[in-house]
Amino acid sequence: MLEHTRLSRRKFLGAGATAVAVVAWDVNTGSWLTAADAAVTGPGAAPVPPQLAGKLVTDEASLAAAADDFGHIISRVPQAVLNATSAEDISVLIKWANKVGIKVAARGQAHSVFGEGQVEGGVVIDMNGLNTIHELGDDYAVVDAGVTWEQILEQSIPAGLAPPVLTDYVRLSVGGVLAVGGIGGNMNQVGMVVDNVDSIDVVTGNGQLVRNVSAKRKSDLFDAALGGLGQVAIITKARIRLAPVSALVRIYELTYSNAAAYLADQRTLVTDGRFGYHEGQIVPDGVGGWNFKIEVGAYYNPPAAPDDDALLAGLSPDLDTNIFDLPTAVWLGRVSAAEEALRGIGLWDTPHPWSDLFLTDEGAEEYLTNTVLPTLTADGVGAGLLLLYPFRTDLLTRPMARVPEGEIVWAFDILRFPFNPALTDALLAENRLLFEEAAALGGNFYPIGALDTTSEEWVAYFGPLYDTLLANKRRYDPDNVLTPGQGIS
Ligand SMILES: Cc1cc2nc3c(=O)[nH]c(=O)nc-3n(C[C@H](O)[C@H](O)[C@H](O)COP(=O)(O)OP(=O)(O)OC[C@H]3O[C@@H](n4cnc5c(N)ncnc54)[C@H](O)[C@@H]3O)c2cc1C
Repeated sequence: MLEHTRLSRRKFLGAGATAVAVVAWDVNTGSWLTAADAAVTGPGAAPVPPQLAGKLVTDEASLAAAADDFGHIISRVPQAVLNATSAEDISVLIKWANKVGIKVAARGQAHSVFGEGQVEGGVVIDMNGLNTIHELGDDYAVVDAGVTWEQILEQSIPAGLAPPVLTDYVRLSVGGVLAVGGIGGNMNQVGMVVDNVDSIDVVTGNGQLVRNVSAKRKSDLFDAALGGLGQVAIITKARIRLAPVSALVRIYELTYSNAAAYLADQRTLVTDGRFGYHEGQIVPDGVGGWNFKIEVGAYYNPPAAPDDDALLAGLSPDLDTNIFDLPTAVWLGRVSAAEEALRGIGLWDTPHPWSDLFLTDEGAEEYLTNTVLPTLTADGVGAGLLLLYPFRTDLLTRPMARVPEGEIVWAFDILRFPFNPALTDALLAENRLLFEEAAALGGNFYPIGALDTTSEEWVAYFGPLYDTLLANKRRYDPDNVLTPGQGIS
């Protein structure tokens, strides 16, 4: 079904404020056709598939929303938005898009910061209608890709379960996170979010709906889709792992003035894995410089309690040590609470030129000293925060979720919430500098940031798997209709 209140300016004016049904796409002119258009029957008219159950909308408000994301930096206006309600709908739409020659991309929660889910002149598939939690088992859940991790937690926590690793912010769609990889504080125990998926259903770029794709069944598609940036398939459903969740977590914040001491203690912790949760930050020192804060957590169920002395043995923070307990459910929702605060000061809907990189362990100290600390400014971070923490790579199993070489890799993210939106261009330039310096030391980008990546940089990003990406594209998305906003091809 197709509703339309904005055809071209001419058609809109002619139609007044009344919605006009469009029935076909004119391949020659690249515009919608109404039943009244003589050309509907012409050779260039591609009728909209009548079997679409979800609404294909083209109204001004829907297009404007689909042309925006959490970054508020890039804006590409699609021709239509499909409010998909089923995998079959997505399959029909993609087959049609191939025939007509227009591009498509899925849109989960649109928390991308650089237009990754946008499609200039194409169709955005809004995944919010695929929002069913089908099954909650003892150690797994079967969920639609439009479901958010927060919705999963709402059902799984009362059952004493949670995904074994989550992103820090859980108001993201399952599909959106599985498309990028998903890093978080429990990575040192179980790998990334994509490493904790048993199987997926997908619609490939040529419109084939393929169910139960796993490491054992159609493993090439499983490998290609998880962390695959929407390049070969749209994920429509996933069977994800769940694990018992503790009642409480004890959080330890250890602050250092000295970068080398911070890095050394972080390495000790990542190597011995003594904490269930493990992250860290660069924090303002209050006088215009920066300190470093290890943030680790021990999950537990009373009456048992963590042994603080044993957990902190051998570590040497020279500033504060702060210890507190929280219900694990509250801890997992902590960034959602921060969202409310940021909304309160008007910074949730402003530009977010985030920088997201992976650093090699060998290069981390040099990079921190010579690049990060001389470059960072308090204005460039605003009300946001800076993450810098190591993780083990031996638990990573999904080839397309790319990280640099080495047993230990560092996540380095500047989650910018600047008070002054006029800084955006300067911060994008800073992101480029930070990336180039990181790359010179063997680092890579994590493709969730605001970085205008070149073709050569994508080739380097995929490294030895670039040919695999091309082969997957040829096989599963031969007309290259999927997810142009990533800027890969
Ligand atoms: C406040 C905040 C905190 C964050 N914290 C973390 C964190 O701790 N760790 C981390 O790893 N990331 C984090 N992110 C980044 C986040 O994981 C990614 O941006 C993620 O892709 C966003 O999910 P989404 O549902 O909003 O996806 P969208 O922005 O809607 O889509 C992202 C990309 O995936 C594609 N896509 C969407 N759905 C599908 C699908 N079903 N199948 C295939 N492709 C699809 C889109 O076309 C687009 O290219 C954070 C982002 C924000 C805004």
